[in-house]
Amino acid sequence: MSGAPEGGRPEDLSRRLAQVRSRISAASHAANSSEPRLIVVTKYFPASDVRILAGLGVSDVGENRDQEAAAKAAELEDLSLAWHFIGQLQSNKARSVVRYARSVHSVDRVSLVTALGKAVAVEQERRGGAGSEPRPDLDCYLQFSLDPDGTADGRGGALPADAAGLAEKVAGTAGLRLAGVMAVAPVDASPDEAFARLLMISAAVRAVDPSATGVSAGMSGDLEAAVAAGATHLRIGSDVLGPRPAVG
Ligand SMILES: *Cc1c(COP(=O)(O)O)cnc(C)c1O
Repeated sequence: MSGAPEGGRPEDLSRRLAQVRSRISAASHAANSSEPRLIVVTKYFPASDVRILAGLGVSDVGENRDQEAAAKAAELEDLSLAWHFIGQLQSNKARSVVRYARSVHSVDRVSLVTALGKAVAVEQERRGGAGSEPRPDLDCYLQFSLDPDGTADGRGGALPADAAGLAEKVAGTAGLRLAGVMAVAPVDASPDEAFARLLMISAAVRAVDPSATGVSAGMSGDLEAAVAAGATHLRIGSDVLGPRPAVG
C-alpha cells in the first residue's frame, strides 16, 4: 500500500513522524500553548515498528487491544516506553492491562474503576512476591461521549452528566490516579465544538481533583483542533504509521 521498498520502513516512519511533530509545533505556536505530549498509536502494527519509533525518540505508545498490547510490551521490555491503553476495556482484562500500562484513557464506568483498583492491588502483590519494584499508580483518563445529542454514540465514553461521580470514584480508589479526561470527536460534528465540550467536562473533573489536568484529545485528522482547544495529550496513529493494515 505504501509502496515503500524493503528496508525503507525506518525512513518512512522518520519522515511521517517529523511531519506530525511539525504540525504539532505549528498548532501549538498558533494557539500560543505548550506542546502536548505525543502518544503514537501503534495498534495493528508490529513491534518492530514500535522499536524503530523508540529509536526516533518516541516515548509514549497507545494500543487498543489487550492481547496485542501485552505481546508487544513483553517483546519490547528492554525499551523504556510508556504504554497507554486507549481502547474499550472489559473489566476482566484489567489484571492483564495493569501489568504493562502506565495509563488507561478509556475509563467510562464505575464497574471498570473498581476492577482497575483491584487489579492494581493484585499486581502490587505479585511484584512484591517477585521482589520487583511496585508499579506507579495507574493514570486514569475518564472517557466521555461528545455526541451532540447527549447519548452514547457507540465510540465509547460516559455521559458528561456522570463526570463528577466517576471522578470521585477514581479519586477515592487506591492505586489509581485521576489524570483527566479523554474523548474521540464524533464523526458528524465539528471537532472544535466537540473539544470545547470536553474542556467544559474537564472543568467539572478538576473541581473534584484540581491536579486532574490531562486532556487526551486529537487524532490524525483533528490534531490541530485538539491543540487549539487545549489538549495535553494527542493520540496519533495513521499519520505516523501509515494506513492501518486490515485485521485478520
Ligand atoms: C486508533 C485510535 C486513535 C488514532 O487514530 P488515527 O486516526 O489513526 O490517528 C486515537 N484514539 C483512539 C481511541 C483510537 O482507537
